[in-house]
Amino acid sequence: MSGNKSTEKSTALVKSAFREYYFKYAMLLEIPEHIDQREFGYMPFGSGMIRHLSFRNRGDILATLIQVVPADVYCSNAYYRFPTYPMQEKQWLGADLIFDIDAKDLHLPCELGHSYFICARCSEVSSAKSEICESCKSTTLNQTSIPCDKCIFALKKEVKRLITVLTTDLGIEEKSVSVYFSGNNGFHVVVSDKSFNPLDSIARSDVVSYLAGTNIMTESIGVRKSRDHSGNDFLIKFPKSGLSYGWRKVIADKLAIDQSSVVKLSHIVLRDGGYEGFKSELSKMAKTLGVRIDPQVSMDVHRIFRMPGTINSKSGLVKMKCNDFESFDPLYDSCLLGGREGEVKMKVSSQINFKLKGESFRLKEKILKLPLFAAVYLICKGLAEATD
Ligand SMILES: [Zn+2]
Ligand SMILES: [Zn+2]
Repeated sequence: MSGNKSTEKSTALVKSAFREYYFKYAMLLEIPEHIDQREFGYMPFGSGMIRHLSFRNRGDILATLIQVVPADVYCSNAYYRFPTYPMQEKQWLGADLIFDIDAKDLHLPCELGHSYFICARCSEVSSAKSEICESCKSTTLNQTSIPCDKCIFALKKEVKRLITVLTTDLGIEEKSVSVYFSGNNGFHVVVSDKSFNPLDSIARSDVVSYLAGTNIMTESIGVRKSRDHSGNDFLIKFPKSGLSYGWRKVIADKLAIDQSSVVKLSHIVLRDGGYEGFKSELSKMAKTLGVRIDPQVSMDVHRIFRMPGTINSKSGLVKMKCNDFESFDPLYDSCLLGGREGEVKMKVSSQINFKLKGESFRLKEKILKLPLFAAVYLICKGLAEATD
């Protein structure tokens, strides 16, 4: 971003709204278990990440938040003997298992309709997808998205699918699973079952593969690669342990087969073009039926995650625990900045429609007054600036 007066004014506005939030909502800050074994980090406005920090208690964290007012605040999911040491010397003791479900991984049809492309050089905004800035011809454009109700619905549906698999297939108790709104365009699902803490990156990757349905073997559903008496390149032999659980059940239900469907499954495999054809159909099917999580996030055991109760500077919304997930509305419940009082004069870069805190905004004019929460939201999204 250019260091012009509007940008400075916008940053000052956002920073003061964030500071007020940390004063008012200190109790929302969720202090992690084993705080002394966690690595903390934060990103100040306008500069790079500061990592490898340690805090002793809530007061310690709050003092920093109010003094520094960072744009973003993070905490490790890992526990370390020496959290402030360089990574190789920290001595890893374990980590919570975290899944990230983000709208970008769901490839929703509504996405492009509420995406904006912002030039990194001149801040020009376009609502049409483009490779080049109309104004300055720069080719560095950042995409930003204003999630709609359909996005939220799809995200919540995916979270529910994940929880179902975690509890039914992996035997995790529902009370050990917590859901957090990420503060922008997704949810984090945290498993606080101690037996998962020691899992290394490879074991976590196996868990992710299972959830996503990658590498499902045709044998598990009863299709083996072999010549049969009629010259086909496959044999149907259902597994002894049955088709009634996990992925076997999901696929069997989808194909409408059971342990007695030898002839029906043969026909399906022949229709797909034999063993290899069926194998590729099966992997496509599993991909659509699997849970769409970001694999990198769950596999990385040294990551620092946005801390619950802190504000996400990509939106001005709060990352928070969804105590009643069914009724949780991210665009209402997580919007906790300012109030109706004190409107702010803004310069908006594009025609934008959005819903926030129960209000619908349809912005057509370039210069207008907005309530603080909406103003901060648009600044964080890169779509508006504070003006005189
Ligand atoms: Zn430009
Ligand atoms: Zn949408």
